[in-house]
Amino acid sequence: MFKKILVANRGEIALRIQRACRELGIKAVMVYSEADRDAKYVKLADEAVCIGPAASSASYLNMPALISAAEVTDAEAIHPGYGFLSENADFAERVEQSGFQFIGPTAESIRMMGDKVSAKQAMIRAGVPCVPGSDGELPDDPVLIRRIGRTVGYPVIIKAAGGGGGRGMRVVHTEAALINAVQMTKAEAAAAFGNPAVYMEKFLLNPRHIEIQVLADKFKNAVYLGERDCSMQRRHQKVIEEAPAPGIPRKLIEKIGERCAAACKKMGYRGAGTFEFLYENGEFYFIEMNTRVQVEHPVTELVTGIDIVKTQILVAAGEKLPFTQRQIQIKGHAIECRVNAEDPFKFTPSPGRITMWHPPGGPGVRVDSHIYTNYFVPPNYDSMVGKIIAYGDTRDQALARMRTALLETVVEGIQTNIPLHRELMIDTHFMTGGTNIHYLEEWLVQRKKLSA
Ligand code: ADP
Repeated sequence: MFKKILVANRGEIALRIQRACRELGIKAVMVYSEADRDAKYVKLADEAVCIGPAASSASYLNMPALISAAEVTDAEAIHPGYGFLSENADFAERVEQSGFQFIGPTAESIRMMGDKVSAKQAMIRAGVPCVPGSDGELPDDPVLIRRIGRTVGYPVIIKAAGGGGGRGMRVVHTEAALINAVQMTKAEAAAAFGNPAVYMEKFLLNPRHIEIQVLADKFKNAVYLGERDCSMQRRHQKVIEEAPAPGIPRKLIEKIGERCAAACKKMGYRGAGTFEFLYENGEFYFIEMNTRVQVEHPVTELVTGIDIVKTQILVAAGEKLPFTQRQIQIKGHAIECRVNAEDPFKFTPSPGRITMWHPPGGPGVRVDSHIYTNYFVPPNYDSMVGKIIAYGDTRDQALARMRTALLETVVEGIQTNIPLHRELMIDTHFMTGGTNIHYLEEWLVQRKKLSA
């Protein structure tokens, strides 16, 4: 087992990884930018290294600074967390070339999944169902593009092979608008991702976002840890996640889960990963794979009892997966609310000093957050400042505990989206379960109308 790991991230996930290391008796080296000097996990650290100024490009995305920090502290492995360099194949390669273990899949796997066209092709080969579409990069010839559009059927969505974070996508409703949309998406993709390749998919009208968590070791053992429903999204960003997904037959989940685990074995995938699907009319359609731990991993941890971050570390150190598929049981229900430092109505970021923080507690309540009273939320990074997760024997119990938790939570000095979560936890449609990916946006439009 490793003696020391460098945590190449910030915020709640840095704290989460530090906790996993402590539990395993591993020393964690924390890195921080000048804006994160006062972070809780830095104060609590065995060792901490400043890697540069506030701007991410000069700190958390600064590969040489991160690798030198690992060198000077004698770390053996690097955990990239999520975001930043976690899905950067070049980083994974440089980490390993410098003699450290990258806690994640191989650079080759990251590269393959990072290009959505090659990812989709790998899934088709592995028997994972995909959204019908061009099944490869779109050609330049407008005649051929129109022909593909007719075969797929309108509406279609044009997506950048290198896209991510909800960017580089355009929905097209008619053939007349197709060529222009393809050209615009290509130009944007070239500018934003350095790769002009785009592909076409059928645009599903009312899908849910359902994803499958997997874990794999270096010996081609792979398991799936059930599913998560992440359909409650605003601007393609997840706001609430839960496990299991309400109303989807277990048999269907098992079938798709087994396909995902089999795909991991076939690809020689190692570490944690997530297969993201759109789910409509009882069918799953693969959209992309995330080759890292995800923000919403706690809901899966609570319903399976498996520590995903610890398992990532164990398999990176060359251990076998400590459980088989048959030993993985889904028990109870978990819901996660992402807490963002933002205006709960206008969604403008609200960084600044937290003058009071009372986290919730009690049975079945978990809080993953690095904030504290008097902590300054820097304006330089993502607005998410933590997660409140509620667990119960049933979904209703998890919801009831979440309502209590949100009622208890006090954050003063900055604005957060907690009032939004309080409203959503008593919304009848959300309480019924099974809302689609448009539900939250539509709900927000209604709320605005009612308050006007
Ligand atoms: P990103 O990597 O940018 O997150 P994804 O491929 O995961 O891109 O898609 C992000 C979101 O865009 C999905 O969660 C869904 O809301 C929407 N989307 C993507 N592809 C389709 C599609 N074929 N039909 C309908 N919605 C889609």
